[in-house]
This record gives sequence, C-alpha cells and structure tokens, in this order.
Amino acid sequence: MIGVYGGTFDPIHFGHLRTALEVKEVFGLEQMRLIPCALPAHKTSPDTAPEKRLAMLALAIQNQQGLMIDRRELDRTGVSYMVDTLQSIRNEIADQSLLLVMGTDAFHSITSWHRWKNLFDYAHIVVMTRPNAGPSLSPPLSGWLNAKSTQNKKDLANKPAGCLFFQPVTQLDISATAIREIIATNKNPNYLLPNKVIDYIKQHKLYTCHKN
Ligand code: ATP
Repeated sequence: MIGVYGGTFDPIHFGHLRTALEVKEVFGLEQMRLIPCALPAHKTSPDTAPEKRLAMLALAIQNQQGLMIDRRELDRTGVSYMVDTLQSIRNEIADQSLLLVMGTDAFHSITSWHRWKNLFDYAHIVVMTRPNAGPSLSPPLSGWLNAKSTQNKKDLANKPAGCLFFQPVTQLDISATAIREIIATNKNPNYLLPNKVIDYIKQHKLYTCHKN
C-alpha cells in the first residue's frame, strides 16, 4: 500500500509531517510519498524555487523510514494536476492499493480539481479529519461521494482504488502561510517545523520579504 501526500511544502512543517506519519502508521503503508507541486492549479505559484522546497523536504524526512519524496510533478511541465500524477504512479505500481491523502480544506474544494472524479480511478481518497468529526459532505457532493465512502479500512487494502475514507488525525493548526509571515516579521518559528528546516531557511534567507 502506497500513500501520496501532495502540497507546495513552502515550507514543510509539523502539520504535514505529523499527519503523514500517522496515516502511514494507521494503514501500515510501505511508503508515504510527499509530492511537491510545481505549478499549483488553485493557488499562486510558490516563490521558493522547487530545488529549495525539495531540499527542505529532504532535511525534514531524513532518517524517517517510509516517508519519501516523489519529484515527478517538478519534472514535468505545465500545471501539476493530481489526476495526472496518480495516473503516472498507477502505471508503475500495477494493482497495488494507492491512497491519496488530503486535509479537509483540500477535500472541500475537490470538485474544482481537474477531472476530479477520475482521481478515484487511480487511488482511494483518505481525508484527514479532526478527532470525533464525522464525514462532512456538502449536499451537491454527498450523493456521488457517499457511494464511494466506506468505514471499513479493509476495503482500502482489498481494492487498488475507488473508496473514500475519513481518518481522524492529530490536529496541529500550523500553516506554511503563517510560518512565512512569522519569518517575514522577524518572529521566531521554533516548534512549528524541524530545526534543520529552520536552519536552511536562515542560511538561504527565505521568506524575509513580507508578502500578502
Ligand atoms: P499554505 O499555507 O502555503 O497554503 P499549507 O501549510 O496549507 O500551505 P500545503 O503545502 O498547501 O500546506 O499542503 C497541502 C496538503 O497538506 C493539503 O492536503 C493540506 O490539507 C495539508 N495540510 C496542510 N497543513 C496541515 C495541517 N496543519 N494539518 C493537516 N494537514 C495539513
């Protein structure tokens, strides 16, 4: 079983890392692949060069078995559509189970993703929720997505793709936007992201310019 965790990771922080690790352990994944996005479809492009975001990712997951980087979105041109990413991974892994992991914020905009229904052709979707929060589907979605939804983890192991699952995870209210703002205003980002990443940010003078 393989997990896919996409993001801009500008920079990677403990909100990403803790949830990636928890989902990896809950499902017993062989790999949790962190996939940095080149050209996001739904937000402005990150100012930080891909190689720097990659370097921070590498520092963050050093020695963490099972967490790995997949750089395929950086190696292709054009908008980084997740459906293309999943399709290309699917071509490499035959019928192994594939989990696309995302936060509830990402899930709430899923119907605006390019060819969003086709995501389920290639992977299951695991939505990371707050503990005790039930599945939250807005009405227009609920019919189609309800049919995909399962409460049985085994369904995700038994089929390569096609299910929707809500997995409670520890909530850390950390965002990359807030971290960039903290650094731009000369405040201290300690305890929000790994020290090695903070050192890298300082060394390369990242996020020093205040942006809105
Ligand atoms: P930004 O603030 O720049 O928009 P971000 O911190 O939200 O960035 P992204 O790199 O866009 O991080 O992360 C993408 C994925 O990580 C999404 O699926 C998102 O839901 C999830 N994610 C981000 N922060 C957290 C967090 N604190 N806890 C759980 N999941 C998170």
